[in-house]
Amino acid sequence: MYKAKAYSAASATSPLAADTIQRRNPTDRDVQIEILFCGVCHSDLHYSRDEWHAIMPAVYPCVPGHEIVGRVTNVGSGVTKFKQGDRVGVGCLVDSDHTCPNCRAGLEQFCPNQVLTYGSPDRHKTAAVTYGGYSESVVVDEGFVLHIPANLNLSAAAPLLCAGITTYSPMRHWGVTEGKKVGVVGLGGLGHMGVKFAHAFGAHTVVFTTSPNKKDDALRLGADEVVVSRNADEMQKHAGSFDFILDCVAAEHDINAYINLLTRDGNITLVGAPDKPLPVSAFGLIMGRRSLSGSPIGSIAETQEMLNFCGEHNITSDVEVIPIQKINEAYARMIKQDVKYRFSIDMASLKSE
Ligand code: NAP
Ligand code: ZN
Repeated sequence: MYKAKAYSAASATSPLAADTIQRRNPTDRDVQIEILFCGVCHSDLHYSRDEWHAIMPAVYPCVPGHEIVGRVTNVGSGVTKFKQGDRVGVGCLVDSDHTCPNCRAGLEQFCPNQVLTYGSPDRHKTAAVTYGGYSESVVVDEGFVLHIPANLNLSAAAPLLCAGITTYSPMRHWGVTEGKKVGVVGLGGLGHMGVKFAHAFGAHTVVFTTSPNKKDDALRLGADEVVVSRNADEMQKHAGSFDFILDCVAAEHDINAYINLLTRDGNITLVGAPDKPLPVSAFGLIMGRRSLSGSPIGSIAETQEMLNFCGEHNITSDVEVIPIQKINEAYARMIKQDVKYRFSIDMASLKSE
């Protein structure tokens, strides 16, 4: 084992602060990574403040971060896909059981024994739970490490590891293509990636936002239209017209207003994960045989496919790079919906701690 610098939360109510954690020495199958940038996902905030207690109680100390990019510093003797110096990424998963029907189908995101990048029991017993990317380094099984295309800027590529795959995967699953009318609700970290992908897939893309000041940005990011969702008349104009809507909202909101915008057999997928249940009107779904579903991240293979797609189409996240010392301020701004459109932590800032 070796020591690594990190930022952790000691409890649901304490701010994140400098800490030292243990990492394992690489096994035969492991890749050791110097973390250069880590994106800041709203899930990091939900989890570190124990907002998902009923579903996923937080364990402290908690080191968040699952949008990791960096450089390989060391590989185990059995590693075949990576070598020292490679530009790599790690997302929300660092292991799975490899034997369940989901793993056998190549869909590790549904494995009942998956190991999340932070907060899951640590099979290597380095600590009680796994520690995430707000740290100077990480050691990960090569099967859960991704290649980052050479043309992508690393600070802006980091958010692809969660925000990117979480929006790419359901759009692929539900057939977002040219000729489809697609809505993206909530222009935050996930939402702005959803807009970029829907646009790149050739769909007519409409952004729903509660923030009128994000209108110009939404158009620049690739939206064909922008609707301020608090304006009922603007919403009504789109009734019954959407093939697919991706809901990326992090807080309580009225999803029935969006269900009513779907066409016959249209689907709305929730990727946003508010802590409280959302009431659903049965009639909105019955009339029009509409469906409501959810989607978690994506598989490792699909994450690599998404990264390659981003390489080919030059897609990255719009980031505000921050030093780790600004992380608590970044969380406060995330709650105020003041993120344009993802914070990316420059991990070099950890050296001064
Ligand atoms: P974010 O950057 O904070 O963006 C969330 C956006 O939701 C905001 O920018 C805002 O957009 C909208 N919003 C926030 N509060 C709202 C409210 N009270 N009413 C209406 N709209 C509101 O968060 P994120 O990192 O994109 O994450 C979004 C959600 O997805 C979180 O719950 C996160 O935990 C979840 N998540 C899920 C997965 C998955 O696998 N399913 C993966 C990652 C994250 P406007 O200003 O445009 O209205
Ligand atoms: Zn995330």
